[in-house]
Amino acid sequence: MDDGPVRYSSIYLHFPFCETKCHYCDFYSLGREKTGPDDADLFEKALLSEIALRGERGEFADRIETIFLGGGTPSMTPPESMERIFKSLLKWTSPGQGYEWTMEANPSSITRERFKAYRDLGINRISMGVQSLRSDHLLKLGRVHNEREALDALESVFESGFTNVSTDLLCGVPGQTLADLDSHIQGLTAFPLTHLSIYLLTLTPGHPMYRDLPEESEQLDHLAFIHEKMTGLGFEHYEISNFAKPGHRARHNLVYWTGGSYLGLGPSAHSFSKSTPIRFRNPNSLHRWATPLLASPARLPVEEREELTPDQLELEKWMLAIRLEEGFPQDWIDTDSRRRKVEVLVREGLLESHPRLGGRLRATPRGFALSDALVRELS
Ligand code: SF4
Repeated sequence: MDDGPVRYSSIYLHFPFCETKCHYCDFYSLGREKTGPDDADLFEKALLSEIALRGERGEFADRIETIFLGGGTPSMTPPESMERIFKSLLKWTSPGQGYEWTMEANPSSITRERFKAYRDLGINRISMGVQSLRSDHLLKLGRVHNEREALDALESVFESGFTNVSTDLLCGVPGQTLADLDSHIQGLTAFPLTHLSIYLLTLTPGHPMYRDLPEESEQLDHLAFIHEKMTGLGFEHYEISNFAKPGHRARHNLVYWTGGSYLGLGPSAHSFSKSTPIRFRNPNSLHRWATPLLASPARLPVEEREELTPDQLELEKWMLAIRLEEGFPQDWIDTDSRRRKVEVLVREGLLESHPRLGGRLRATPRGFALSDALVRELS
């Protein structure tokens, strides 16, 4: 089935290379030990081919509103290579007014000069993977930076002129205390961050660190602390794991969280076309992704394509509504059984009437922390 004449204004580019593979990482990424000498070249050539194929199909909107360079570690890409990639994209489209162009970066791949070069290319938002400010925890997680390098890297980002900067932190790390979280948040917000993402570390049951993960009650305490701390510092808790200064919510991610359309390019990248509604995905392998793109004639590498059923759409509707601060309209409570469930969830302190948006309900901070249960009840 064809994915139709969709013109995307939100684009995701997946850069698969990393210094090393972190111990908890689920993304498609290759540490240096898994990377051949020609892989960076192969990646760039294939990505240029994918951009050209999508461009020829008329799939880029005239104005791109958001671009997200994720991975992997896009900040390992030399600025000259990044420039060739941007130029090929901007042959087909232009940045919309007030566009958001985010690059993920890791502290180990940062220099001030490199960041200036990225800024000159049009990138206007950085999302830095700090994860922790305790060097022993960073080591345990398999990260290659330490606390000092993380703080130095943040300083370089601001010194090179970026003003819209987010960082990622992990909570639920074995051995992490409330005092750790407090000092990490203090340390990071000493910089003029506009955004902070705090994700709960999740591991599969077979993982060596799995049995050291904190109990659910401890996780809930930590999440409650994070909510209080961050909102006290003037950040809006606008999504389960995301906090923003007013006016600085992550626009690209909001496209995902509001069920909007986006086009993903690069190995393992996902796409969604809302009007069809079809989700599709590239192969989780640099070589399987690149081979059709570099064949003659070149072909798109889409590996999986799924048309969402009404039941899947209903489930997604609830999952998305529960994760956002805006919640959902009361008229979604359209059956007696749902009404009874909502009454219980309100009594349990997991749902509440939205304090500012009339006629809406939303998850409380505790409801955010138990969002899977909420979705199960309501969908
Ligand atoms: S830096 Fe990020 S993408 Fe790379 S291995 Fe670590 S967690 Fe995964």
